[in-house]
Amino acid sequence: MFMLVRETFANVTRTDEHWWKRAHALTLTSDRFDAPTTIDRLTTIVGRSAVIENPADLGAYVSEPRGQYHGRALCMVEPETPEKVAAFLAFCHTHKIGVVPQGGNTGLVGGQTPDASAHQIILSLRRLRAIREIDPSSDALTVEAGVTLRETQEAAASVNRYFPLSLASEGSCTIGGNIATNAGGVHVLAYGMMRDLVLGLEVALADGRLLSTLGKLRKDNTGYDLTRLFIGSEGTLGVITAATLKLYPRPCGHAVAFVGMNDPSQALSLLAFIKERAGPALQAFELIPRLGIDFVTQHIPGARDPLAAPHRWYALVELAGFADRDVDTLAAHIFEEALAQGYVADATLAHSLDQAAALWKLRESLSEAQKREGGSIKHDISIAVNQIPDFIKTAAQRLGEAFPAARPVPFGHMGDGNLHYNVSQPKVGDKQAFLAQRAEINAIVHGLVQEFGGSISAEHGIGVLKRDLLKQVKDPVALDLMRAIKSTLDPAGILNPGKLL
Ligand code: ZN
Repeated sequence: MFMLVRETFANVTRTDEHWWKRAHALTLTSDRFDAPTTIDRLTTIVGRSAVIENPADLGAYVSEPRGQYHGRALCMVEPETPEKVAAFLAFCHTHKIGVVPQGGNTGLVGGQTPDASAHQIILSLRRLRAIREIDPSSDALTVEAGVTLRETQEAAASVNRYFPLSLASEGSCTIGGNIATNAGGVHVLAYGMMRDLVLGLEVALADGRLLSTLGKLRKDNTGYDLTRLFIGSEGTLGVITAATLKLYPRPCGHAVAFVGMNDPSQALSLLAFIKERAGPALQAFELIPRLGIDFVTQHIPGARDPLAAPHRWYALVELAGFADRDVDTLAAHIFEEALAQGYVADATLAHSLDQAAALWKLRESLSEAQKREGGSIKHDISIAVNQIPDFIKTAAQRLGEAFPAARPVPFGHMGDGNLHYNVSQPKVGDKQAFLAQRAEINAIVHGLVQEFGGSISAEHGIGVLKRDLLKQVKDPVALDLMRAIKSTLDPAGILNPGKLL
């Protein structure tokens, strides 16, 4: 089978999609498949306690948090060492068994869910729990894939350093998953995405070898950047077992402000103003429309509007203080001037950690509040920061013409150009009838993203949710190269089959 794929590929100058599907359908159809024998063999490779086959015990792993994808699995394995992960992959490679890597199972695009065949095996990395090294002198931290994001942040804090990746699911999502999906979150504006935070990786390859680029080097010009190739590959090129991450100076304090504005153009001016005044102290700049605040104050217990009067738009702004810079005074000066110059209509600053947490809760509860408001059609898009006001205006016009009662709630990481352009169902109306219009609403939003030269997946990845869309929007030459890389690293097509490509 290996030869078939390689030879077929060698004869194709321009990889066409049908060839791709045929080749991978072939590689994944093994007439030697036998479930009891497979599980027996697996227990000798990873140990009896690392193989879970009872369907009741698998329930939490075969569905994802939004409940859109449900699969079945032959079993789940959870090896205790990277070497066992590699040995397990070698076995699956030989026997052409599909493997679905899984971290904290918090992904939003179905990338971690097995298909319905019950032939695939979930590979959980949750038992790779070691924090191998913390080195504050080199500002580097080496952790295994199953360590959660919060534990990673805490390990950094234990040596007075900072690991800046921050997202709503940080208590349960894992570093391996964060890297495999190139996670983003609220601090991308200041520190970049996960791809910018990794120094090296240990990766189990499909053929059972362990690749290591682990190390604390900031400079290493020795050829192709293999580390970054695996970041964001969604488990389709290899399985990340450990990573060396970058650490940063730990902020000595944060200031959180919540400001009211008339429109996103004002938010753009405010963003530029704060960048000039605060420099690297600006950590997050999140945009929220009034309707989002209405939803949160209505549906989330304890949430209240922090400003005296309603405004059409809001921004949540976070600044950090470093060394002896007093961030509260800095923030007070910045927002006093912003008010005086008309960049904002009103502003409030948190005066305690509890108040700061309450402001962040307004932002972080948006998805949950929108869910309670009824059907919601979600988009995770990015465009150039300066085009955000135009995009929001044009998208509202086009959606308004086609679906006058639908309610757009565009919110998110304006500071880095990433909007969660979610559309809520009409105030009165049937949820299923609204969700049935998903394809047309997606076409309007994603079509406009294309016109603006943006991306249809800013931070959630492709998975199953956007796999077909990717084929329509990605440069065909780029798709050719992606398939060629996939065929080289995973010739039997066992790694997360049916995801991304
Ligand atoms: Zn986000």
